[in-house]
Amino acid sequence: MIISIASGKGGTGKTTIATSLALSIEHGQFLDCDVEEPNAHLFLKPEKEKVETVSVTVPEVDMNLCTHCGECGKICQFKAIVSVKKSLLLFPQLCHSCGGCIKACPSGAIKEVEREIGIIESGRVKDIEFHHGILNIGEAKSPPLIKALKKKINNSNTVIIDSPPGTSCPVITSVRGSDYVILVTEPTPFGLNDLILAVEMVKTLLIPSGIIINRSDIGDREVFLYCERENIPILMEIPNNREVAEGYSKGKTLVETLPELKEKFRELFKNIKRS
Ligand code: SF4
Ligand code: SF4
Repeated sequence: MIISIASGKGGTGKTTIATSLALSIEHGQFLDCDVEEPNAHLFLKPEKEKVETVSVTVPEVDMNLCTHCGECGKICQFKAIVSVKKSLLLFPQLCHSCGGCIKACPSGAIKEVEREIGIIESGRVKDIEFHHGILNIGEAKSPPLIKALKKKINNSNTVIIDSPPGTSCPVITSVRGSDYVILVTEPTPFGLNDLILAVEMVKTLLIPSGIIINRSDIGDREVFLYCERENIPILMEIPNNREVAEGYSKGKTLVETLPELKEKFRELFKNIKRS
């Protein structure tokens, strides 16, 4: 079973929930798909076992063969290759590796070459297999790295995915194929606004979801009323707690600070499996 933890915006406590759920069920796989800013390792502290580089293919042009016909630029929808008078401009970071320009080139001047976009680090935390991706600085597109990371999934395992925040392509790439999405929010106007977007996203992807309300005793009741109106289950409420914030600043997970929550997370996991 694949459970993704997502949130419409950053800073809601998504990683806190993901890492605590993983430590409560104590088996399976954990994937940190927030590849632009992975931080689950700071809390789970896995023993690193393996590092792999991840590359995508991009075109390389042999200017000795190029006749400047412009066909490659015409077919590229992403403006990653542009023919300008007697030269060609290549923007590898915009390339989606579709291979269209290679097929379109009548002179055979274009070949594919590998371009490294990031790495995947793997390790273990107790009985949990841990993987996270680290996107190279300045890299524009994270979905190819997230897709490479998700190839680590063994479908016979329980898999926890810590998704990037927001509702754009990296999030959709992360949560697609999940059996359930836990959306983490907080009861504030910003929290509600981004939660609505996240709920729409998972509905579009036809994935069942439930909400965890973090810092549930701050803000107002609008998030609760929204969940009631939309018939979205509230899986857990976690009150604001200074001890948890202090623990977080020292790299402690929620269940390390409040071990009594482990049982609640186990119950939550069983309920999701039953749903
Ligand atoms: S491989 Fe596709 S996206 Fe990349 S430059 Fe060629 S046509 Fe554009
Ligand atoms: S399609 Fe091939 S020959 Fe034409 S401009 Fe592009 S690289 Fe040059």
